Amino acid sequence: MGLAARFFEQDAPGRFRHMIHDEVDKWVDKIIDEVFVDDKEPTLEELSQLFSETKREFFGACLQALIEQKYAGLFDQQYAACTKCGKMCKKRRDPSKKMETMQGPSDLKGRPWYYCVDCSYGFSPLDKVLEISRKKHQFDVQKKSTKTVAEMPFSGSSELFAELTGHRISDHFMHATFEEVGAYACLEDVIPGRQEIAKRCQEVNESAWHPVLVVASDGAHVPTRAKAKRDEKRGKGRWQEAKGFRIYLLGKDRIVHVASWHQIQNEEQFGNDLSLVASRIPQANLRIGLLGDGADWLWKHMTACFPKGRQILDYFHCAEHIHQVARLQYGEGTQKCLEWVESTLTRLFYAEVDNVIWGLQRMKPNDELAKEEIRKLIGYLDNNRQRIHYRGDRIGGYPIGSGGIESANKFISHTRMKRSGAWWVKETGNEMLAIRCAIYNGTYGQVFDKYKKEQMST
Ligand SMILES: [Zn+2]
Repeated sequence: MGLAARFFEQDAPGRFRHMIHDEVDKWVDKIIDEVFVDDKEPTLEELSQLFSETKREFFGACLQALIEQKYAGLFDQQYAACTKCGKMCKKRRDPSKKMETMQGPSDLKGRPWYYCVDCSYGFSPLDKVLEISRKKHQFDVQKKSTKTVAEMPFSGSSELFAELTGHRISDHFMHATFEEVGAYACLEDVIPGRQEIAKRCQEVNESAWHPVLVVASDGAHVPTRAKAKRDEKRGKGRWQEAKGFRIYLLGKDRIVHVASWHQIQNEEQFGNDLSLVASRIPQANLRIGLLGDGADWLWKHMTACFPKGRQILDYFHCAEHIHQVARLQYGEGTQKCLEWVESTLTRLFYAEVDNVIWGLQRMKPNDELAKEEIRKLIGYLDNNRQRIHYRGDRIGGYPIGSGGIESANKFISHTRMKRSGAWWVKETGNEMLAIRCAIYNGTYGQVFDKYKKEQMST
């Protein structure tokens, strides 16, 4: 603590002020040497670049000075109580800690380290109070870097990160940290807590309009491959379904997001996950609309989790099936094709399902392909007849199509998961989906805190 001794007559803020002044002088010298040496005329961009290159060292040193003064007592300490048993331990050694924050490099010289022989446990009170990571790049860097790779491909992300922040980390560091944080992105933390959900419901409920809680489920296909063992060729990839749901509140003039969750998983896991989320929602005071396509397993889980929900067959999925038959039967884009689609959708809008089925049964199929599609459509409508009541939905303020889940799928899944050439190992893919959901749900901070807490305690 040479510096502290130099300013012993002053208090900590005063010493800090002096140290910063020294750092400013060093920095100014550097700038003067660069800019005023000859008759060169640097451009604005060049001057800005010079600041970018020099500010990290400057701010890193300032941060270091601040820590040394704010926590001078911890640096000088000779004895500390073991955090496990309370026994007083004498300082063992004082290793320095070279670290990097978003501000720049800092070196904590001579921070005392203790060891309790009874507990076989080593500890550093300064590390604990500052929450210092054992990694060189500190938690503020780890948090931003993980968020960055949640948005862009792993390869090349460190280059952009360095360019935008001035902070250099490797692709490998970003990938490894992402996987470590991802391990803490479990459903329990990615989904907002009961209180937060109640607050969001309250927000929409304030108007006279009685809002509808919409539960929309869907699948999106993700390219996956098996995890290759060392020296083994990567296995052949296959597309797996990421099953997901998005829950939101539909008010008169706005939508409030409640929760999104997507995972590459089977139907049973999907049901378990939906059930956990349902248990956090105050269902008694809400009108509930369930949106989905025709899959039976999906309705089974949605109705089990939201028993009083109004079941609505997704209008856009339904319309897609109608179009398919029209194309095969009447030819793409023909007048007859368009007329039939319009009249059929109008009948369905007025819940005349029997009428539509009757017409389909009397249709003379164009060919075998059309015959098969007509047969499938009859089955589909028959199977979902109690879920087709679009006019009533509209009047009641319920949604008729899951535009919401479609765009959530696009945002959460497609934009990151379906990049060309990207094949996902299921576990990593699920971590990616979970972290992206956390960002979307506003819970990323709490997921990261859990990772940090775990890192600190081991
Ligand atoms: Zn102890």
